[in-house]
Amino acid sequence: MPDNFSIPRLLMNRLRAVMAADIDPDSRLQRVVRLVADTMVGDVCSIYRRTEDHRLELIATEGLSPEAVHRTFLGFGEGLVGQIATHAQPLSIQDAPRHPSFSYRPETGEDPYHAFLGVPILRGGQVVGVLTVQNRTERTYEDDEIESLQTIAMVLAEIVTGRSSATEGNGPERAGRPVNLRGRILCDGLGLGRVRLHDPVIPAAKFFAVDPDLEERRLVGALEELHISIDRLLAAEIGGLWGEPRDVIEAYKLLASDPGWAERLREGVRSGLSAEASIDRMRREHRARFENVRDTYLRERLHDLEDLDNRLLRILAGHDEQDTTGPDIGDEPEVLVARRLGPAELLDYGQKNFAAIILEEVSASSHAAIVARGLGIPTVGGIEGLLTQVSRGDTVIVDGEEGSVHIRPDEGLLRAFGERRKLLSERQAAFLALRGEPSETLDHVDIRLMLNAGLGLDLDHLNSTGAAGIGLFRTEFQFLMSDTLPRLHDQIDLYRNVLDSADGRPVYFRTVDLGGDKLLPNLNDLREENPALGWRSIRFALDRPGLFRRQLRALVRAAAGRSLNVMFPMLTTVHEFRDARALLQKELDWSAAAGFVPPSDLKVGAMLETPAFAYALEDLGGEVDFISIGTNDLLQFFHAADRMTPVVADRYPFVSRPVMRFLKQVRQTCDRLGIPISVCGEGAGHPLQALCLIAVGYRSLSMPAGGIGPVKRMLRSLDLGAFQSDFEALLNQTSPRLGNGLLELVVTHGIKLADA
Ligand code: PEP
Ligand code: MG
Repeated sequence: MPDNFSIPRLLMNRLRAVMAADIDPDSRLQRVVRLVADTMVGDVCSIYRRTEDHRLELIATEGLSPEAVHRTFLGFGEGLVGQIATHAQPLSIQDAPRHPSFSYRPETGEDPYHAFLGVPILRGGQVVGVLTVQNRTERTYEDDEIESLQTIAMVLAEIVTGRSSATEGNGPERAGRPVNLRGRILCDGLGLGRVRLHDPVIPAAKFFAVDPDLEERRLVGALEELHISIDRLLAAEIGGLWGEPRDVIEAYKLLASDPGWAERLREGVRSGLSAEASIDRMRREHRARFENVRDTYLRERLHDLEDLDNRLLRILAGHDEQDTTGPDIGDEPEVLVARRLGPAELLDYGQKNFAAIILEEVSASSHAAIVARGLGIPTVGGIEGLLTQVSRGDTVIVDGEEGSVHIRPDEGLLRAFGERRKLLSERQAAFLALRGEPSETLDHVDIRLMLNAGLGLDLDHLNSTGAAGIGLFRTEFQFLMSDTLPRLHDQIDLYRNVLDSADGRPVYFRTVDLGGDKLLPNLNDLREENPALGWRSIRFALDRPGLFRRQLRALVRAAAGRSLNVMFPMLTTVHEFRDARALLQKELDWSAAAGFVPPSDLKVGAMLETPAFAYALEDLGGEVDFISIGTNDLLQFFHAADRMTPVVADRYPFVSRPVMRFLKQVRQTCDRLGIPISVCGEGAGHPLQALCLIAVGYRSLSMPAGGIGPVKRMLRSLDLGAFQSDFEALLNQTSPRLGNGLLELVVTHGIKLADA
């Protein structure tokens, strides 16, 4: 990208004159395309407008056949224009007819044109049209030409939607068109409410600077106000749930003081844009760069920059604080819609109880998903282009059971949703009633059901589910929730709080499991080809003894006079266990020497998450107090299928002969060595999978809160002795697929699978 704006002031002045002219809308558009074609030295310039039935209609052209106007329509995704609309991204092509997406429309007479440049016309984050330029000869459009066309598109948004504002865009008719989208379940459950946009895009109120000098003064004034407001933030005592946010704000302040940023904004104003339009333009550029950057750290910084743009726009609009209440949509439940959302941002909404959350990005927002789970808010993520499909106030159904989202649902869907919600709440009430019942099979085999947790928020589930304790406490969440490392006392406080809430029930603290998808940008800047197989988990912790020992110290101190269960994640070798155990011993010795009360009882375990470690157990024998199997990671390594890539992760079932034979073998080895064993991956929370685990000998399962009711219901209907022998026989057969045969057994044995 070049360093300065290239939109000549002359073009801005001419565009402003065209916009202000007292002429009919079609003539105005015609003048615009002629002006743009002239300025961009294009042989063609065309404008396509999004219609209410979600197509793109050619509404003005200079260079293509005039007969094609209002006669040429393209679907979203169809042809180059449709691609631009779908992805909301510019597209520049040297030789368009050779592009695989090129769609030839004879009525337009576009055969002789080769070079093609198109940009989306966006309004309020939504694609309302497409603006294109074409040239007869093959050529490459320069970055500044693309930028110029984007600026023009920004100005055009008003008249493109203005022509039809009664019937489309954010208008009432659009509100009637239902859209169904699919995503990934981040927290299950059902939610219905009106859309509330997180960080709503404030559209620029005016595009042209009537008096550029005055406009520059407005901009400079807003920049000054921005600095003052950030200083105010810095000066304030900001507690923050997850530690000290001061560093973040410092970094933010640094970005805000970047002279390059301010200078580019001023150049925009000098070229004839209004202050708002100049910021809006910058924001689009930041967003475009953001889309192309994969590095987590850089993405965070670009997100901050975009946030600054928004803050500045709000100052110009007269309200500089983050608008957390938004326009009033009454008392109706709200569904929070965001492109991405940091966990702290979600917590910033405080007591606000969202009916559901929908996110465009899945992995960057997974930490928010963790918080959402802690809060029990149904959440669906990974929906590309989500923000171009919704408007504030739209009714939306979030189906966190199926992973679908229904925007502006029709009556039929709303009725069906009502039915499902009724069923779900009946089911939940039934699970709640089971809370106090023993967790044992019909033939009186006790199965210990424990909770997976990782936030203070999860602790409420201990009582609501009747869990026997916390089988996995993911300590790294505290690290992920803050941009700075939690201090010793923050960690002690959290662990103490967890032990208090457990009130004597066992808690298994898993030591920091960072790396892989749980990235801390400031700690790990390694660029890894395969992060899941890389510098993560115990490997990372052992290489960071300062960080690791501080955590072990916090655990020892928090457990003063109480039982402490600690387990190390993702071990591959015996030495890793011994090294980690030795560090823990150092901390125990240190605490004792310093006069702190030691834990009353200590158990040190290992998570079995790599196949190699299963074969190391023999060597470890009595050194380890317990084993907990992390099936999420174990299965990804067992199948060589990345758990974060749904297209492969969902391909190899948990319920399969190889997995069950392996888990049975591990259980037998542990029994022989006298090592207690349990399972704590998410899989243990699915009744059918839990059934298999119980059948191959596991008696202790730890799972997300939502799994405890359904699994308990299942096992209380199970005659384990009778089922086990049939299951063994099925496991030893070669066909049918284990899953199919298993379902037959479930029916013959009358086992209650919650969802069956
Ligand atoms: C697992 O891998 O199964 C596990 C429990 O750990 P995490 O999901 O946190 O990696
Ligand atoms: Mg794991």
